[in-house]
Amino acid sequence: MINIRKKAAALLTVLALCAFSSSLFAADCAEVREKYQCPIEKKKITLSFDDGVADVTPKVLDVLNREKIQGTFFVLGNKVNCSIYKNDCSTNPESQSCQSFQLCQQRVHTLKRIKNEGHMIGSHSYKHDRHSELPAQLLEYNIRKSRAILEPYFTTEPAIFRLPYGDGWFNQKTKPQVMAALERNNFKHIGWEMTAYDWNPDHQKGDKILDNVMTQMCAGKGRVGVILFHDGVFENEHVGRTYTADNLARWIPTMRCAADFVPLTYFKKDLRVK
Ligand SMILES: [Zn+2]
Repeated sequence: MINIRKKAAALLTVLALCAFSSSLFAADCAEVREKYQCPIEKKKITLSFDDGVADVTPKVLDVLNREKIQGTFFVLGNKVNCSIYKNDCSTNPESQSCQSFQLCQQRVHTLKRIKNEGHMIGSHSYKHDRHSELPAQLLEYNIRKSRAILEPYFTTEPAIFRLPYGDGWFNQKTKPQVMAALERNNFKHIGWEMTAYDWNPDHQKGDKILDNVMTQMCAGKGRVGVILFHDGVFENEHVGRTYTADNLARWIPTMRCAADFVPLTYFKKDLRVK
């Protein structure tokens, strides 16, 4: 009998700890709302992450899952195309090519995890080029190649796409060929309403990135919609945006003071989730 009581008490302790640790950080919302002059009514926002898959993406996923937030990941096709690496691991496991191949396989594993955990996945094209400056053939190649690599992981119909640098979306009137190519390939372009500027090393200190987001969300009438973050670094095949991954858990409770997190489809009603 005593044993059963002891076990029950231990179980209750574990359950209490689980409930307590669902969010590791807390925010004083009255203070937050005063600091950023947030409107009384909460905003609706969704988080998106560009330039992955990267080594820190699992850390971002851990945070999103703990906070029960559905994120949207715009993935570079060339980061998960492992056929571009020579697999000589059976004969030469110490080689650079073997290590690159294995890191690529890890990224594919993470991409599967993103999908399995219910997040949205879109294309960030095959390579991080300025698409409005590409010759027509290469523009078409990048878009098609990204579909060939990422097709099994797409989560919506039509599949979603975010152009690197927002290029061709910002300047649709002067560079109509870029959006025309996306339409031709049955992609829906997704931009952003707010940006964290987390790609910029000058902002990767203290809570500058959080301030960027909160200011856009709250100041004046404030904004709603998609927020642009980065989990990857486009020039680097494996390393990601460590500062964002390390601090996201701390920033979310502050964002929650002024906004509810919603899925991308809350804003994009024409997307059908597969
Ligand atoms: Zn990008």
